Amino acid sequence: MIENFSQTFFPMKKYRKYTFYCCTFVFCVGLVWPAMYTNPVKGMKQSSFHPDSFWYYPWGKSVTHKGIDIFAGLNTGVTSVTNGLVVYSGTMSRGGKVVLVLGPKWRLHYYAHLNQSGVETLEWVGAGETIGGVGNTGNAQGKPYHLHYSVVTLIPYFWRIDDSRQGWKKMFYLNPKDYFSV
Ligand SMILES: [Zn+2]
Repeated sequence: MIENFSQTFFPMKKYRKYTFYCCTFVFCVGLVWPAMYTNPVKGMKQSSFHPDSFWYYPWGKSVTHKGIDIFAGLNTGVTSVTNGLVVYSGTMSRGGKVVLVLGPKWRLHYYAHLNQSGVETLEWVGAGETIGGVGNTGNAQGKPYHLHYSVVTLIPYFWRIDDSRQGWKKMFYLNPKDYFSV
């Protein structure tokens, strides 16, 4: 079984077994890597976000809102919710200035509409470390300053699918509110 799987995915015969065990090891480390959580915006309160804004419909081109918007003043510190690796720090059309962090359990943490980013791609960050400042870049231009924060699991959680609009995408998008401590 392992032999067949590795033959398909790692065709270089000589290193097949080695590569397979290596990948399995990295995958498992990602799963058991201890996660610590902090809030994504400094000083945020329950009133800084709408509790039902996750999966809100209709939400423009995105159809449903796959994150939570946390409102705060311009340049309020945005902090990494978990420890992790910055896989992207740059600009995207909808998100504006964004930071994408790969954290424990193979989850991506997406911070968008930043006024400024304080980290570089491929930099390691700790939970609670400042990674940027709140803004209204991208498609938030002209709207009140806020952080758009999303959590995406790379391992699909099929049991989370429901019959809401785009409900199948809930196997990837997790409700960030579950990790806030306010
Ligand atoms: Zn948003």
